[in-house]
Amino acid sequence: MTANADPSATPPRGRLGPNWRKPSFLVIVVPSALMLLTLLFCALFAEWVTPYDPLQQDLINALQGPSVEHWLGTDDLGRDVLSRLIFGSRIAVIAPAEATGLAVLIGVPIGLFIGFRGGWWDWVVMRVVEAVVSIPGIMVAIVIIAILGTGLHRAMFALGILYSTAFLRLARSVVLTEREEVYVKSARVIGAGPTRILLRHIFLNIAPPLIVQVTLTVGAVLLAEAGLSFIGIGVQPPQASWGTMLNSAASFMELSPFLAVPPGIAIVATVLAVNLLGDVLRDSIGRGVRVPSTGAPAQRMLAVPRKATTPMAPHPDDALRVEGLEIMVSPKGEAEVPVVTDMSFRIAKGETLGLVGESGSGKTVTGLGLMGLIGTGVRITNGRVMLENTNLLGLDRRDLEKARGNDVAMVFQDPTTSLNPTYTVGNQIAEVLRIKQGLSHRAARDRTIELIDRVGIPRPAQQADAYPHELSGGMAQRIAIARALSCTPKLLIADEPTTALDVTVQQEILDLFRDLQDEFGMAMLFVTHDLAVAADICDRIAVMYCGEIVETAPVDALFADPRHPYTAGLLSAMPHGQSGKPPLPVIRGSVPAPGHWPTGCRFAARCPYAIDACAKPVQMTGTDRLERCTRADELSLEPAK
Ligand code: SF4
Repeated sequence: MTANADPSATPPRGRLGPNWRKPSFLVIVVPSALMLLTLLFCALFAEWVTPYDPLQQDLINALQGPSVEHWLGTDDLGRDVLSRLIFGSRIAVIAPAEATGLAVLIGVPIGLFIGFRGGWWDWVVMRVVEAVVSIPGIMVAIVIIAILGTGLHRAMFALGILYSTAFLRLARSVVLTEREEVYVKSARVIGAGPTRILLRHIFLNIAPPLIVQVTLTVGAVLLAEAGLSFIGIGVQPPQASWGTMLNSAASFMELSPFLAVPPGIAIVATVLAVNLLGDVLRDSIGRGVRVPSTGAPAQRMLAVPRKATTPMAPHPDDALRVEGLEIMVSPKGEAEVPVVTDMSFRIAKGETLGLVGESGSGKTVTGLGLMGLIGTGVRITNGRVMLENTNLLGLDRRDLEKARGNDVAMVFQDPTTSLNPTYTVGNQIAEVLRIKQGLSHRAARDRTIELIDRVGIPRPAQQADAYPHELSGGMAQRIAIARALSCTPKLLIADEPTTALDVTVQQEILDLFRDLQDEFGMAMLFVTHDLAVAADICDRIAVMYCGEIVETAPVDALFADPRHPYTAGLLSAMPHGQSGKPPLPVIRGSVPAPGHWPTGCRFAARCPYAIDACAKPVQMTGTDRLERCTRADELSLEPAK
C-alpha cells in the first residue's frame, strides 16, 4: 500500500507533442487509454451493458465456468460474474476519485504551507508525517476504519488521509526547491508577497509531479480498496466490487479457480494502465516548468545591528549609501563565520559602481543583501543600506516589498532562470506594473509592449506572448531588464548580467544598460568578475577580496594607477589583445574560504609585497579614492596594459 515513488524526478523540459510520433508512445498510451476509457464507459453505463442483474442469485447454476449464457461464469450464489465485474468498475472509478481527491486536498495545501514557511511548523508537521509513514499503510487504514466504521466511503476517507502524506511531502519538496530559484527571487525583487509567490509562481511548478503522483495514487487506491474489501472492511456484500469478488473467489479456490481470474485481471490491467500513463506523463508533460537549480538558498533575515557603525557623511547626490555592512553565514553544523565585513560605499544618482573580484569574494551576497534576499543560514548582522533617506535594512517585510521593484530592482546573471517558465514574458512584466503601479490589465499590456520595444526586441506585441524558453539568452536578458526598469527604480543592481551571454550579445546588453541609464537616470551597482566589462560600463570600481573592499577608485585612475597589490594582480592577469608569449601572469594561491581569513591583511598570503606589519588588521584609507593596504603610498604598482 504505497504511492511514494518519486514523481518529482521529472525531466526538466519537453512537450507532449513530439512524443506522439514515437512507437513506444503509441504502444503504451493507446492501450492504456483504451483500457481506462472502457472502464469509464462501463462505470457510466453499467445498467445498459450488463447482461444480468449483478445481485440476481441462481443457486442451481452456482460456480459454473464460462459458457454462452455466462461468458465469465457464475459465482458461489449463481450471480453472473461479467455483470458483477462491470458494476464493480463503478467502485474502481469512485474509490480512487474519492481517496485521491481527499489526499490532494489535504496534502497539497499543507505541503505548500510548511515548505514555504519552514521553521517549527515544518518541523512539527514532518515529525507527524514521519510517524504515520513509519507504520505500514494497511495498519493505519485499519485503525482509521476501526474508528469510523466499515463501508466504501469511510474506507476511502481513511485512504485519503493516509495518502495525503505522499502529496504533502511532494508539495513540500517542490516548494523547498522552487523557493530558492532565481525566478522566485525575481518575484520577490518586484515586491510580490509570500501568498502571491506561492500561488502564482510556485504552485504551477507542482503540476507535473502532482499529476504523476495522482496516477500512482489511483493505482495504489485500487489495490488498497481490493485489499480492504478482501478482508471485509471495505465494500460490503452483496455490492459488487472487484475486491469483494476476489474475496468470495478465495473461499472457492479449489472448486472454481477461474472465479479469481476476471477481477484479478481487471485490477492488474487498470493499475497497469494508470501507472503506464503516469510514466508517459512524467516524460512528456509540461512546458519545461522546472528550471535548473542554482543551489543558492534565499531567505531574508532582517538586520540585527550589534555594533556601532560609523556613519558616512550624507551627500545630496547619494542614491545609495552602504555603511559598515556585515553578513554572516552558518555552514551546517559549524559556527557562524563572516562572508562580508566592513562594507561601505556610495553610489551617486546616475552613477555606475562596479563591484569586482574573484569568485567567492562576496560580491553576489552583497548585492542580494542590499535587497534583503540573502539565503537560509545567512544573516545581516550589522550595517545600514541607505536608499536616499531610507534604511532598507530597517524596513518591515511589507515596506521592503513595496521598495523592491519600485525603488530598487535587480537583474540576475542567467535570464532563463530569472524568468518564470510558466508565464509569458509579457505577463511577467505586466505583473510588476499591475502590482506596483496599479495599472489595469489593458494599460499594463500596452506599457509592457512599449518596454519590450524600448529594450530593442523586434515585434514587441508578438514577443510579449512568448515563453522564456522560446527566446534567446540575449532577448531573455532584455526582457529581464525591461521588467526591472518597468517602475523606473532609483537603484538597479545587476549581478553578472552579461556573464551567461556570448561576447557579441554582451556588448549589446552593455550598450542597452548605458542607454537606459541615461534615459532613466538610475544609480547602478554592477557586479562582475570581468574587469574589462567593468571598465566599459562603470564610472567607479570597488575591488572586493575575502568579503571586504580593498580598493575603490574611478575607472581611469584604477587602471592607470592601482594602489592595492590585489588590484594590480587582477589588472596584470587581464587579457590585453597580445596573443602568445609571454603567458599572462597569475596571482599565486587561491582565495581563502570564509572562516579561514587571516586576522591581518587578508591578501597577505598571496601578496608579493607582504611585510611583518601586514599581519595587523588594515583599515581603508584615503579620500577621493580608498585603499586597504599599509604600503599603498610606498608601492609603485604596474598599471593595466
Ligand atoms: S597590506 Fe601588506 S600584504 Fe596586504 S596588500 Fe598591502 S602590502 Fe600586501
